[in-house]
Amino acid sequence: MGDIEKLVALQRHINILKNTKKKLKELANRSDIRDLLNQLKETENILMELEGQSKENEKSLNKNNSILKDLDYKLKEIEKNLYEGDITDLKQLGFLDHEREIIKKTIEEKEMEILTQMEEAEKYKKELIKKQEYFNSLKKEYTSAVKKYKIAKEDYKKSIKDEEKIIDELSSQIDKELLDKFIYLERNKGMAVAEVIEGRCTGCNVLLPTIIVDRLKNKEEIVFCDNCDRILYLNKGHI
Ligand SMILES: [Zn+2]
Repeated sequence: MGDIEKLVALQRHINILKNTKKKLKELANRSDIRDLLNQLKETENILMELEGQSKENEKSLNKNNSILKDLDYKLKEIEKNLYEGDITDLKQLGFLDHEREIIKKTIEEKEMEILTQMEEAEKYKKELIKKQEYFNSLKKEYTSAVKKYKIAKEDYKKSIKDEEKIIDELSSQIDKELLDKFIYLERNKGMAVAEVIEGRCTGCNVLLPTIIVDRLKNKEEIVFCDNCDRILYLNKGHI
């Protein structure tokens, strides 16, 4: 491999390295995994809140059922006294009757309340199942995205390491002065080697003198572009 071929290869591997580093940076800046995690946390909070509300409803329902039981017992006691008891005092009977009406009304109200709470319990149950399913699917999506991210990151890191090794190897084979010039151009112009296509330097697009193109065609020497100073390269396979 002549000097120019080594420089071309070096340029190609530097470009691959730059591109891979850029992709790695883009990967780290991707927001989809962060968005998924936020959604997951949000859904978990909603689930917890729903569970709390559902438990509260259940607690209140149990309490109301126990109150209803007590009321039913009380009503039975009053009715027993009213119909089977020995009370003959009209005033007392009137009082018991009034008491009975009040308890009956309270029972009716409690029964209505319990019915609503039972309906609520059913709603909570359905909503909880739905939210839990959504949470599970999000979690699955998140886990898979994290896994893919880790694999891609490792691939890029490995590729960067490989490219750096190749670049070091190629650099060690190039004359120090020429390598310094290459590095200087690479740093200042972003690209040190410019291919000559249809007689033009692709670095600055200037039409090159025929004598320069001829030198590139016939000799194994390093030629610089008079206009942009880049190292010129003619792909002889393209002629
Ligand atoms: Zn040029």
